[in-house]
Amino acid sequence: MKIRLATVWLGGCAGCHMSFLDLDEFLIDLADAVDLVYSPVVDVKDYPENVDLCLIEGAVCNEDNLEILHKIRARTKVLVSFGDCAVTGNVPAMRNPLGLANVENVLQCAYMDHAQNNPSVPKADGIVPQLLANVRPVHELVRVEYFLPGCPPPAARIKSLVAQLLAGTTPKQEGEQLKFG
Ligand code: SF4
Repeated sequence: MKIRLATVWLGGCAGCHMSFLDLDEFLIDLADAVDLVYSPVVDVKDYPENVDLCLIEGAVCNEDNLEILHKIRARTKVLVSFGDCAVTGNVPAMRNPLGLANVENVLQCAYMDHAQNNPSVPKADGIVPQLLANVRPVHELVRVEYFLPGCPPPAARIKSLVAQLLAGTTPKQEGEQLKFG
């Protein structure tokens, strides 16, 4: 039976998913071994039940991220924190020193001060979810089985971890697998 694989995009730049697509010919092997049941690259609206393996890109930045993260944890056997934003908070967490009082300032800066056209904060329309006071790495909020560091993790590192998981072995990330590039 095929592994039910999901990939999720929380607060990140999509660079980790771009690195995933750099798996090149390994993607063909993956296509034989997995059913991709949820991902930014497939048109599935709701995170399904009974997912075997999920790679989570991005930090937990807002209420929507938090809500789906708990759903993902409840419905997934093995979670991988995919990339430095998921592992540490990384770039999105740079706003944390500003604190809760400055969430409004973050929105003001992003949507008003640096807008070239039609400056407005779309939060009022429900388009932008409520920001959390602090951006959090995934493992601070739910249990995570494995970590894939890197910004983004190089394709070889992704391949190494995923291939070991698909083979049913306990993954090791060491030596050459931890080098960048
Ligand atoms: Fe983008 Fe780097 Fe964060 Fe991945 S870890 S989402 S590449 S900033």
